[in-house]
Amino acid sequence: MTEEQGLEVKKSMCFFCKPRCIQTVYVKDGRLVKVDPSPIKGCPRWRVTGEWFYHPDRLKFPRKRVGEKGQDKWEQISWDQALDEIAAKLQETREKYGAEGVAVTAGTSRTYEELNSRFLNLFGSPNQVGQGQICHGNSAVVATMVYGWWPYWMSTEKLENTQCILMIGRDPRPSHQTIWEGMLEAQKRGAKLIAVDPRRSSVAARADLWLQLRPGTDCALLMSMINVIIEEELYDKEFVTQWCHGFEELRERAGEYPPEQAEEITWVPADKIRAAARMFATHRPSCAIEGMGVAHQPHSLGALQARHIISAIVGNIDVAGGEELLGPAPFITEHEIELAEALPEEQRGKMLGADRYRLYTWPGYDLIQRQNVERVWGKRCDMYGYTCMATAPALYRAIAYGQPYPVKALITLSSNPMVTQGNTKLVYKALKRLGFYVVVDYFMTPSAELADYVLPAACWLERDFLFNYHNTTPVMIAGEAALPSTVPGEYDRRTDFEFWRGLGIRLGQEEYWPWETVEEYYDDRLKPMGLTFKELVEMGRWAPERKYKKYEEMGFGTPTGKIELTSTVLEQLGYDPLPRYKEPPESPISTPELSKKYPFILITGARFLPFFHSEFRQVETLRKMHPHPLCEIHPETAKKLGIEEGDWVWIESPRGRIMQKCKYFEGIDPRVVHAQHGWWYPEMPGEEPWLHGVWISNINVLTDDDLDHCDEALGSWPLKTLQCRVYKAGRYEAAPPLPL
Ligand code: SF4
Repeated sequence: MTEEQGLEVKKSMCFFCKPRCIQTVYVKDGRLVKVDPSPIKGCPRWRVTGEWFYHPDRLKFPRKRVGEKGQDKWEQISWDQALDEIAAKLQETREKYGAEGVAVTAGTSRTYEELNSRFLNLFGSPNQVGQGQICHGNSAVVATMVYGWWPYWMSTEKLENTQCILMIGRDPRPSHQTIWEGMLEAQKRGAKLIAVDPRRSSVAARADLWLQLRPGTDCALLMSMINVIIEEELYDKEFVTQWCHGFEELRERAGEYPPEQAEEITWVPADKIRAAARMFATHRPSCAIEGMGVAHQPHSLGALQARHIISAIVGNIDVAGGEELLGPAPFITEHEIELAEALPEEQRGKMLGADRYRLYTWPGYDLIQRQNVERVWGKRCDMYGYTCMATAPALYRAIAYGQPYPVKALITLSSNPMVTQGNTKLVYKALKRLGFYVVVDYFMTPSAELADYVLPAACWLERDFLFNYHNTTPVMIAGEAALPSTVPGEYDRRTDFEFWRGLGIRLGQEEYWPWETVEEYYDDRLKPMGLTFKELVEMGRWAPERKYKKYEEMGFGTPTGKIELTSTVLEQLGYDPLPRYKEPPESPISTPELSKKYPFILITGARFLPFFHSEFRQVETLRKMHPHPLCEIHPETAKKLGIEEGDWVWIESPRGRIMQKCKYFEGIDPRVVHAQHGWWYPEMPGEEPWLHGVWISNINVLTDDDLDHCDEALGSWPLKTLQCRVYKAGRYEAAPPLPL
């Protein structure tokens, strides 16, 4: 199709999931005609772009609550009225409770995230939270602490050159198909594949070696592999001597994890641990790719430290096919936009969680990024919120109980904490107790139902976007808005750029919001490269020439200038500088009494198609592909419990119970159960008590966010190491009234 046929052809950036494909979009008279197929073969979502965009339930105009909270009664208002009233409420809250009484929560990169931070830093609040601690944030912080930069995790180039892939707790087939396809190509040319996963994931099914470990024991497993590599002298002696700090201390600590001992902890046979260590160390360059299996642990620090150390000791750093440290982008980066230092010193100390989870919050950020990374690289490696963010469980407690101080106002951007945040009961209590709650999203959600204002967000088809993999790489891609975000009389949606700028101007931040449009904002950021946003859209992608082993000229961005096998940052922050395995707070070993009642290890969070976290349940085409939440149980276990495949079952933890459908799965240990995350039922009523069925199948009703159970340095909460029991739902309880 061409412009002669009256069609405009636009290049937009799809946000439906992580790869951020540049999609060709055809538009006529301001309406979407079609979208070209996704470059990702297995993607099920591009086909429903129109169905999603024109879904009757998509939010169209700002709305303000008129009934009681949770009654789903609203009046339509204008954007100006909404912004005026929200700004006035934020100002009132700041005057009464201090700026820290206002917080922001955002989801998985649906927004101009650097602008959330910019607004909040200028406003004076340190309390921005998100999913960073249970997403790539943990890895970003730990990698930057160990290497002085975060290796480019989305890199498919490294897969083109690697000889061995160590995939830890990651299944890219449903979660990140570009990595999946790169991995398949690597295998075709002979690269080895090691999978570390308690489930027989798509990766595990294709692996040369599958290490089926007990959930939450990754640190012990990796330290044991490090032990083998050191004991058998398979490490890169020259690199370690010249470029690594603290090797002897590491040798001593790894000595505590001989494979036979690790087998007892991890359930992985000692000979497999040895084989994996040898494979990883002798097929170089090798690379490790970790996923949420590691981030979702109560002690993710040790596991992530070990994951980065294992790459370092075999010399896989900043080489083709290894851990690529690409350095900062040559344009104005996200951290420069965030204005982190605009947050007054006194306010930084008030960041919720900064007193105990010091690595992820201000103390660690200052030490890692400002004092070291910036010193060496000239810029920081700071994915938004992935290196400096308040801790969500601490925030929800502050809202619910006013401790250590009250938080009274919350803004949620394109996220759904009632479904995606651990411990839904606490989140519910907090959202109900909030003095003031604003949600900006695409659809009504269980969280939005508890808001005072709900504002319609412009989606990827309605907004320009510039993406450089969160400033971990100088590679840049750009997508343009294909459709108007406002059609008079039909809908009036705005980008979060317009939202934050609108609030900023009303709250005395005028001088910091000089750009009238997103395009102007991006033009300004690209100026140092002599490019405009439109030119970058035309180019599609900009990437510098790869240069490796840059450390030979500049060292590493760490306090010692070397890779820190023993972390001086952790020492300075008062933590153990080396990885040490710790038993999860809830496990057959640490809580044997509890485990009598709840005998199975519950894991959650494995990605599955066609959904993306809590999204797309209202899109009929996709829902028909996957109508119900599924709980994977080993057939042996299920039969003992009298559960047939397809039965609705109750999954119960010490915190509550929910219902999902049983799926027999031989690829899971009989002692482990996996339940899907992200489930709610948009088709069910929005008002309380239904809240779109948020209590029926939502796994976070069962998860734990006790502050003592979160990672001591990172603040991540456990999603993979919970105890549960499972039983068949009664005849009249089963099959909730789901119309689809
Ligand atoms: S849904 Fe994901 S894989 Fe599919 S086109 Fe969009 S970004 Fe690419």
